[in-house]
Amino acid sequence: MWPGRDTPLGFGLRLCYGPHFAAQHDAPDAGDHIEMGIPLKQQAQVAAYVLKQKMAGRKRFPLVLMLEPLFRCNLACAGCGKIDYPDEILNRRLSIEECLGAAQECGAPVVAIAGGEPLLHKEMPTIVQGLLDQGRIVILCTNALLLEKKIDAYQPHERFIWDIHLDGDKAQHDWAVSQEGVYEKAVAALKLARDKGFRTAINCTLFNNADADRTAKFFDDVTAMGVDNIMLSPGYAYERAPDQQHFLNRQNTKELFRNVFRQNDGKGGKTKWRMGNSPLFLDFLAGNQSYGCTPWGNPTRNIFGWQRPCYLLGEGYAKSFQELMDTTDWDKYGVGNYEKCADCMVHSGFEATAALDAFAKPWKAVAAQLRGPRTEGPMAPEIDLSKQRPAEYVFSAHVQKAMSEMTHEPKRGAKHGGSGDSKPQVAAE
Ligand code: SF4
Repeated sequence: MWPGRDTPLGFGLRLCYGPHFAAQHDAPDAGDHIEMGIPLKQQAQVAAYVLKQKMAGRKRFPLVLMLEPLFRCNLACAGCGKIDYPDEILNRRLSIEECLGAAQECGAPVVAIAGGEPLLHKEMPTIVQGLLDQGRIVILCTNALLLEKKIDAYQPHERFIWDIHLDGDKAQHDWAVSQEGVYEKAVAALKLARDKGFRTAINCTLFNNADADRTAKFFDDVTAMGVDNIMLSPGYAYERAPDQQHFLNRQNTKELFRNVFRQNDGKGGKTKWRMGNSPLFLDFLAGNQSYGCTPWGNPTRNIFGWQRPCYLLGEGYAKSFQELMDTTDWDKYGVGNYEKCADCMVHSGFEATAALDAFAKPWKAVAAQLRGPRTEGPMAPEIDLSKQRPAEYVFSAHVQKAMSEMTHEPKRGAKHGGSGDSKPQVAAE
């Protein structure tokens, strides 16, 4: 799995009326562009949370915890910038207590579990159940290679969704994961999960070799398979990814997504696909919104601590969520501020922006939902990049620091505070 790409902030933070609303309230064809998304109850849960934060006067607050309990993966995708670590780091795990504690610490209503491949973590079923017991919406991202073997350790739940990494049809996906045969396994796992009564999503990341027609046909296919949500994002240009040739720049991203969205046109003008992204995020991908990112909307906790500034960039780590929020210089990051952000349009950075915009201007989100992303006409102005600061390359220093801390941390069984108690499980399955 490619964690940076398939972690779903694209979980569909729709703070506007969805299909369930339409069904329950007999809304007139509210739209030809209304499609199944996140259940109304969950939208209401997130909306109530945002309202509470606003009423408390909080300027910055998390919406989705990006939980990376391990970096080890059973794939090695060419575009992945998350697994290029020494074995000592790849063998580390966040413990159950650390995972549940991170969710409590930040309070986000949604937890997206990524990695690495989360199903390699032997305690994952307990972690998922613990998060559900906390009342959270849980999205478990997986490349699905182990799903058939592990699925009976999980129970269907209205707040639990399998989010299966599928970057396109067989040729596209197997290319993206650098391995033949993964597409068939992922599709079989998707059908199995659906047949067992689980909610399912696919997480689809597109690169500059994506073909709009084939991508649209692929969305038709997964819709026919009964997937509950399609979560969509362009890839992030990870500096550590082995393949640096296939990342999209912003202009190409917008044109590609317009070409894909044009084909979401079913009988009677109705939408064909059930998108898991929020309508304003999709409109942003189509070039119609000049959004800056909201990196604190999706804080990331992994074995290094709380990652600065976002899920995609590891420019430093804080020991606690509060320290992350209080000591990160947020203005140093984002498109126009930092070279590494220049081409970013990834859901983990911008879905929160879209969600907060929807909360502030619900009529705008409803309009975007009803008409779908605009695919014609001029695009919104692009952000000026002329004053962005140059990239800093800090990866090696972080790895060295983490390795040195590991050497000095207490042995297993000793009393602990940080991530040092993670059992160094071996990832073999
Ligand atoms: S623009 Fe930069 S800071 Fe914002 S989400 Fe993307 S990589 Fe992170």
